[in-house]
Amino acid sequence: MAEVVPAVPKAGNDAEEFKDYVSFLLAQEEPRPPITWSNWWSEIYWGQGVALMIVMPLCTFVAAYHTPLCTNTAIWTLVYYFISGIGITAGYHRLWAHRSYNATRALEYVLIVLAAGSVQGPIIWWARGHRAHHRYTDTDLDPYNARRGLLWSHIGWVMFKPRRRQGKVDVSDLRGNDIVMWQCRHYPWLVLAMVVVLPTLVAGVGWGDWKGGLVYSGFLRLVIVHHTTSCVNSLAHWFGDTPFDDKLTPRDHLFTALLTAGEGYHNFHHQFPMDYRNAVKWYQYDPTKWLIWLCSKVGLASHLKTFSENEIRKGRLTMELRHLHKKQEELVWPQGDLPVVNWASFQSQAELRPLLCIAGFIHDLEGFMGEHPGGKHLLQQNIGKDATAAFFGGVYNHSNAAHNLLAMKRVGILHSGMPHGTEERYVPPSRLLRVAHIKELSSQCVH
Ligand SMILES: [Zn+2]
Ligand SMILES: [Zn+2]
Repeated sequence: MAEVVPAVPKAGNDAEEFKDYVSFLLAQEEPRPPITWSNWWSEIYWGQGVALMIVMPLCTFVAAYHTPLCTNTAIWTLVYYFISGIGITAGYHRLWAHRSYNATRALEYVLIVLAAGSVQGPIIWWARGHRAHHRYTDTDLDPYNARRGLLWSHIGWVMFKPRRRQGKVDVSDLRGNDIVMWQCRHYPWLVLAMVVVLPTLVAGVGWGDWKGGLVYSGFLRLVIVHHTTSCVNSLAHWFGDTPFDDKLTPRDHLFTALLTAGEGYHNFHHQFPMDYRNAVKWYQYDPTKWLIWLCSKVGLASHLKTFSENEIRKGRLTMELRHLHKKQEELVWPQGDLPVVNWASFQSQAELRPLLCIAGFIHDLEGFMGEHPGGKHLLQQNIGKDATAAFFGGVYNHSNAAHNLLAMKRVGILHSGMPHGTEERYVPPSRLLRVAHIKELSSQCVH
């Protein structure tokens, strides 16, 4: 049965009352009461929270303390850690939650069985939460809302019942997938097979280390997989760069990518969620992407989705421009709103202080005469004159720095002088590619 997605508020009073769709949805129901010392025992998840995230790891650490680790088991634990994690990254996440590629039935079975070894719930439950995370990122409808703090997004949401029900999303496509439904029906058995039977059997039959296989490859690996996967919800929303958008918390960082088989390029992922890649550059670490690409080459995967390079570059450029705008705002620029003066006034003022006219602007060179690299006399002979031609090559073709500095000495605009901005060479070089916010364009002079 298809999930029911709440109606979008209609135009009119309803729509005006709320600033956006999320606040509209949040207003539909009361939050649960806050967790306190008197109610925590009824607000905690005893199974998935206490048993799986606290008791199981503690028992595992005690067992590991009493179990010697041999080299073969250590290698097998690492390998199995990686491939059971791939079940989540290439399967749960990129295939089923985001439909970023198509997989053959054989590959679907392999991924769904491997993912059971990571014990993160049946795929429908996982994908519903993850789609809500993308749909309602950083709001109370996002089950792992990073704005509630690092601890909440890492483990709190698994331990405690949410104060708000997570936002509704559509998972009808998954309900129509027979392999997904097969996993739901047999989930406990698959978990038993992949956490207990397979890792123990490989180490036991392979090199006689039955106990090590169970403790290290089965359970210790599971504890690590739980926490590294959680890092995508916590660390990847907490530290790193925002090369595509800084409106929300997702971040790109190599460290989280290393922990999560490439899922750490999370800023990109939240911008382009249906792209089968999380890392777009060839040197970035994304083994999940490489594996999906490899599967497509041997016929196990197809229809790998990628966003257009043009749009990806546009996203990156947006942030670069924002950084440039910030840098630009930190500098001091020529003053605007200059008085308009006529020629006669310019002449009389020039008798009192060293004024000269270049490219339609009156400049005051008080305090600069002795600093002029070309010598004081060249300036003196142009006081009270239009030195445009002399400045732009007639005497010396001035450098970018000289032109930028000249603009800082503007004190007025010559009436009926040169129309500003009509010739590129008369605009100070630092202002030629000025980064302007759209609000500034209509209200300010661009040079
Ligand atoms: Zn996220
Ligand atoms: Zn995602």
